[in-house]
Amino acid sequence: MSNNPTLMDIDSGSTDHMLIIEHDPETGWSAPVIKPYSPLTLDPASSVFHYATAVFEGMKAFRGPDDKPILFRPEMNMDRFAMSAERIALPPFNRDALLTLIKQLVMVDERWIPSRTGYSMYVRPVYIGTRPTVGVQASTHGMIFVIMSPTGPYFPTGFKPISLMARHDFVRAWPGGTGEYKLALNYAPTFKPQQEAASKGYQQILWLLGDERRVTEVGQMNFFVVLKRSDGDIDLITPALDGTILPGVTRDCILSLAKTHVPDASSPDSLSTSARSIPRLHAEERQYTIADIVSWLEQGVLLEAFGAGTAAIICPVSKIGWEGKDLILPEYEEGVGPVSKALWERIVEIQEGRRESEWSVKCE
Ligand SMILES: *Cc1c(COP(=O)(O)O)cnc(C)c1O
Repeated sequence: MSNNPTLMDIDSGSTDHMLIIEHDPETGWSAPVIKPYSPLTLDPASSVFHYATAVFEGMKAFRGPDDKPILFRPEMNMDRFAMSAERIALPPFNRDALLTLIKQLVMVDERWIPSRTGYSMYVRPVYIGTRPTVGVQASTHGMIFVIMSPTGPYFPTGFKPISLMARHDFVRAWPGGTGEYKLALNYAPTFKPQQEAASKGYQQILWLLGDERRVTEVGQMNFFVVLKRSDGDIDLITPALDGTILPGVTRDCILSLAKTHVPDASSPDSLSTSARSIPRLHAEERQYTIADIVSWLEQGVLLEAFGAGTAAIICPVSKIGWEGKDLILPEYEEGVGPVSKALWERIVEIQEGRRESEWSVKCE
């Protein structure tokens, strides 16, 4: 597996089966089919090949302590999938029905979910426009398919913080654009700048926006900073959902875990453990700039920074290349700061069903 915290490294091959449902304007949605994984046959005039009518999602299935597959907050993915599809005028679908089908697909290929901790099965729903004419207009025809792939821990040998190259000249998303949707068309333009960053020795891009150089996201992850406050508490800050930020499921989990955290380690809501105590966390969604990061580092209050997304959950950052210099972040023995680590641990515990939570959804 590459050391690139992309949405997913489908390097390990797909599972045996896939789900397909097709929409025709005359007959509506077809009967869903779960069939052996196989190539698709599409009309070359299909909308998706010409006008990028494509939407995708990324979620994971885990093996619970009772061996049963569990999904993690899948209704959030279904809602986002529907919203993305709506943005490019693909025909609407029934979210609950699709989730039921995805659970069935997961159960069919259940044996592909490794039973070791840290392992899971990545689930990739895709919705494409299949209107078979080259006229530039909304696709009245559509196809939803879902493929899956077993996946291992993002950091198999412990956390390895990544380096970022901050860029304002390449822009991932902009006001009035489509950055808040998981549209395929948001990703192709990031490959070239990503390659360029890699050739200069940086693993991901820190996407800045506008003359004020607002910090938005890192690679295909949401971005968080952890700041020490003068009262001893901690600020956990991520950019607000202003239309340029993808509303990540992981982002949402981090914000709610931070809000329910209490510094008293004896409380079940506390992220602290006996080994580590985490002060009160103030979760904030607001804008900040690269100049703020520079100034927080100068003041010595920037404790941790990380990317957040389904693939890595939490991906610690070690340095940020900006204006020809490297901004160096604090180093930690474990490769990850205590707040990042505590959040990561709690999310993994819930995902793997080792901790009771309404976020886990059993496939049955
Ligand atoms: C998918 C994605 C994320 C993370 O979303 P999760 O739901 O947490 O996986 C963040 N930013 C971008 C641009 C994304 O595409």
